Amino acid sequence: TALLEVAHVSKKFGNDTKALSDVNFSVREGEFVSIIGPSGAGKSTLLRCINRMIDASSGEINFDNVNILSLNKRELKKTRTKIGMIFQHYNLVNRLTVIENTLHGRLGFKTTFAGMLGIYTEEEKQQAIKILNVLGLNEQIFKRSDQLSGGQKQRVGIARALIQNPRMLLCDEPIASLDPSSSKVIMDHLKNISVKMGITVLVNLHQVDVALKYSDTIIGINGGQVVYNGSPKNITPDD
Ligand code: ADP
Ligand code: ADP
Repeated sequence: TALLEVAHVSKKFGNDTKALSDVNFSVREGEFVSIIGPSGAGKSTLLRCINRMIDASSGEINFDNVNILSLNKRELKKTRTKIGMIFQHYNLVNRLTVIENTLHGRLGFKTTFAGMLGIYTEEEKQQAIKILNVLGLNEQIFKRSDQLSGGQKQRVGIARALIQNPRMLLCDEPIASLDPSSSKVIMDHLKNISVKMGITVLVNLHQVDVALKYSDTIIGINGGQVVYNGSPKNITPDD
């Protein structure tokens, strides 16, 4: 059965811009899905509709058998802890350390207390350290985030998402600001998270070669519409 089902989703900005038109697809638990398409195709809008950072204009989005679009603020907050977000520009709090940024994921991104390690339990801190070790950041734990390389920052972004114990990660162009070798490290981590932890991964990419290499399924979007949905093996240059 599907973990995520997107049905007839459309999104208009103002009167003229139709960013998404009748988008339909579903994603299995543990599946690794890449969403590819040119700039302006609607990829980012789609991910933002799925976690309701913005509201779809119409349609249904079912996650774990709950219609995301029908949730009130409190219910949405609870559901969002199961959906981790990863951003192109990392969205870290620069003045905080790596472990503080990681634990920040537990607070639903409220900044007020994020820098006070004392508010977290020993267990939470140990869990953060464990995740940072898995991501190869054991030497950066107490460094300020603004002293890290881009690839390291994105690994902190992944750690911050993982500390919520998500069922699914939504990654919006996670490697668009990174060089090829850091990009490979990030994609390898995302793949591991899907294969070893069974977490569903949806990732927006504009590099088709990367999408072909890592994905179980490719969803191609153009002009706000799904133009391809299938295995990377069946993709042809015409798609
Ligand atoms: P992609 O992520 O594939 O580059 P986007 O989802 O960012 O595409 O954008 C899809 C379309 O929606 C584009 O035409 C873009 O200009 C428009 N768009 C995105 N966000 C907004 C917004 N907040 N207000 C108005 N138009 C927007
Ligand atoms: P609320 O105001 O209801 O507390 P927030 O805007 O603080 O909601 O964020 C709730 C959810 O939105 C987070 O759990 C996360 O899924 C997503 N989110 C918002 N901002 C970020 C961010 N900077 N980094 C990662 N996820 C974010």
